[in-house]
Amino acid sequence: MERATPIDEWPAAAALLGLFPPGTVQDPNGTLVVGGVRLDVVAERFGTPAIIVAEDALRQRARDYLAAFRGRWPRSDVAFASKAFPCTAVQRVLAEEGLHLDVAGGGEIVSAMAAGADPARLVLHGNAKTTEEIELAVGQGIGLVVVDNHDDIDRLELIVPPGRVQDCLVRVIPGVAATTHASQATGHTGSKFGLLPAEAARAIIRIEHSPRLRMAGLHTHVGSQLLDVDELAAAVAPVAALGHFEVYDLGGGLGARYTYAEQAPTLDAYAEALVGQARVLLPAEARLIVEPGRSMVAAAACTLYRVTTIKRGVVTHVAVDGGMGDNLEVSLTGQRFEATIADRVGGGQPVALVGRHCESGDQLIDSVPLRDAAVGDLLAVPVTGAYCYTMSNQYNGARRVPVVFVRGGEARLVVRRDTWDDLLSRDVG
Ligand SMILES: *Cc1c(COP(=O)(O)O)cnc(C)c1O
Repeated sequence: MERATPIDEWPAAAALLGLFPPGTVQDPNGTLVVGGVRLDVVAERFGTPAIIVAEDALRQRARDYLAAFRGRWPRSDVAFASKAFPCTAVQRVLAEEGLHLDVAGGGEIVSAMAAGADPARLVLHGNAKTTEEIELAVGQGIGLVVVDNHDDIDRLELIVPPGRVQDCLVRVIPGVAATTHASQATGHTGSKFGLLPAEAARAIIRIEHSPRLRMAGLHTHVGSQLLDVDELAAAVAPVAALGHFEVYDLGGGLGARYTYAEQAPTLDAYAEALVGQARVLLPAEARLIVEPGRSMVAAAACTLYRVTTIKRGVVTHVAVDGGMGDNLEVSLTGQRFEATIADRVGGGQPVALVGRHCESGDQLIDSVPLRDAAVGDLLAVPVTGAYCYTMSNQYNGARRVPVVFVRGGEARLVVRRDTWDDLLSRDVG
């Protein structure tokens, strides 16, 4: 095998490489190598667009999370928020690393079970859980059901069979207005998620008096893509004010670093902020849970595209074979990404990187430097592990993206691309 060039011999590319999964290098020709596999080799074998996950980076992040919290608060558990990357293979890897799984609804319960997760280590969320979903959760023996509203209590009391008791957390609106995109804020007083403290107190009493339910503790979640750990830690006080319980689930929300300019808090800073508040405000024997989604998976993956057309006018439009079908983060939340040609990393002229979908909003990056982009080039967008696969869709007849794991020089397909037949597979008659 050819020797891979360490990052620091490519100073112009160093900033970009820093956004790719840890361990990413360039081969002697300058081509990106992720998980020991050249991205052009991955693209050749599995096609584009495709989401590439560096399995070692994913596993290491899970270990780092556990170490950061258990090192400070031994009775801590980390539950991966499956919705950030609800693919059986990802859930399996993270469950193997000792994480619990947070599931939002029936579909994520089904994939978590397929991943071999222990149902006792699942936490069910949702502001609109259906009877069917609660039946599935109770039937599978899910460890914790997060009660979001009084209707959840009504349903649970009907569904939990005699002789069984379901452990519950009550979701509390912390009243924290976080600095993030409006669609990603969940902890403000008008949130549709959870109950304001006074109402939560009534739900707690109902659960405490229910023969079928057990009041295990409280849950809260401030929002997503938060880059200020103090905003995340601000949710502890309103929860603590509701009293002493066994479990405090403080949600997820830690932001990921998507661009050169951004800095995301370290896991140590995050854990220190949350546990710092817990030490002051929560019972010493309590069990803490955190539920990272984005910050667990975002940086472990990148997306590969092929440049299909280039149009030079007032703006140079470089178009690729994906877009809104595999990355809705841009149009939904305005998230900024970076990109590079896979074998010409760093530098170049600013272009508009656009997708193939029939919307002007289908723009991956409004302005990004690419070095001599040409039709047929392989293009890589880093930090696509969170919320891209999960919102992939078939808009404009797109075949949903495959997921490829790379590790130690080997690539393996864990989710295949849709086939044309898949696009027709639900037609009836
Ligand atoms: C979405 C969500 C998470 C994960 O949020 P991230 O920002 O991806 O870390 C955790 N808990 C709940 C209840 C959520 O809805």
